[in-house]
Amino acid sequence: MRLTLTILLLFSGAVSFANDPEGHSAEGKRDTVEAVVMYGEEMLFDAVDGLNEQQVKDLRDSVLKFHGRSEFSDYLGLYISLTSKTEDELITYIDSLFETDEVPYALINQINLFLANRPERVTNSVPKDLFIGAKNVAIPAEHFYPSWDNTNPNPYPWDWGSTDTSLSILLSDPQKLGDFAIPVVNTMTSTFGWRDGRMHNGVDIDLEVWDPVQSAFDGVVRVARYYGGYGRVVVVRHFNGLETVYAHLHRFKVKEGDKVYAGQVVGLGGSSGKSTGSHLHFEVRFKGKPINPASFISFDEQRLINDTLVLKRTKNGYVSYPKGVLIYTVKRGDNLFEIARQYGTTTYRLAELNGIRRNDYLYVGQRLRVI
Ligand SMILES: [Zn+2]
Repeated sequence: MRLTLTILLLFSGAVSFANDPEGHSAEGKRDTVEAVVMYGEEMLFDAVDGLNEQQVKDLRDSVLKFHGRSEFSDYLGLYISLTSKTEDELITYIDSLFETDEVPYALINQINLFLANRPERVTNSVPKDLFIGAKNVAIPAEHFYPSWDNTNPNPYPWDWGSTDTSLSILLSDPQKLGDFAIPVVNTMTSTFGWRDGRMHNGVDIDLEVWDPVQSAFDGVVRVARYYGGYGRVVVVRHFNGLETVYAHLHRFKVKEGDKVYAGQVVGLGGSSGKSTGSHLHFEVRFKGKPINPASFISFDEQRLINDTLVLKRTKNGYVSYPKGVLIYTVKRGDNLFEIARQYGTTTYRLAELNGIRRNDYLYVGQRLRVI
């Protein structure tokens, strides 16, 4: 694997220089995509926008020539055969990969990036399927859900929403939905996704016991009780159909059925339930399926990344992304601080967005989300 990786770095470096002999201009090295869904950080190869179909074929041929047939060359072959398929076919295929014994995350990541970079998917227009929601209702977004259940944070059947394809929802609108507030302003200690071989369905935010925890959006409290590993947990259903979960609380400040507004304190932080040390375990769910809060919330800047969230159904859940994501491809000599400065953002934000550490080594051809 190490040998393979070396080849890839040289390859992507060559592509990068061929496209950009100056090595300084950001023009042509940035492109806007709708979705980048990553399961861990493993990739089949880098410099996605630098490799056209022929280049991927050349890469596979050179791998075959110098290293013989391997799992890696098979994956490259598979990748090539998939690029002619439609988006729906590819999503179905990704789902089937999740059911294999050793899930090939690198291949899945690569297909997801390929999907994200298809030119026809780049659009900034208002989506025609945008769900706005209504504020003055007793049960928010009722038609999305089969029940209003106070006893269980996630009472929805596993296959609920399985016929969905994609959906855009409005995240905030002062008149129709209310505002947004960050639940707790503090350091994120664990991110969403695969961590040490298991799924973490939310993000952990550090806090001291008794620190106030705020609702992220306007909505109605569905659950406020002690529930298993969550400990004292509040679940709020919002008017746009999202549900947010605030776990390990020390005290409740709301009760089931209460209407809450964004920024209202729903409880005081603690470490009840299955928790080591006081922190907030914060989840965002749609129809019971967890989605990555950091895909549309900047915890570093305490704001929404965009006012619209796109949800795309897969067999196992939904992938989520804000509209108008900007990707930067790392060039030789780049560093995180310089990239952050160039895009008017911070190294903390870049690290958060990309699931990397601020002192991580960047490599030529690496793709970083900058917005
Ligand atoms: Zn957690």
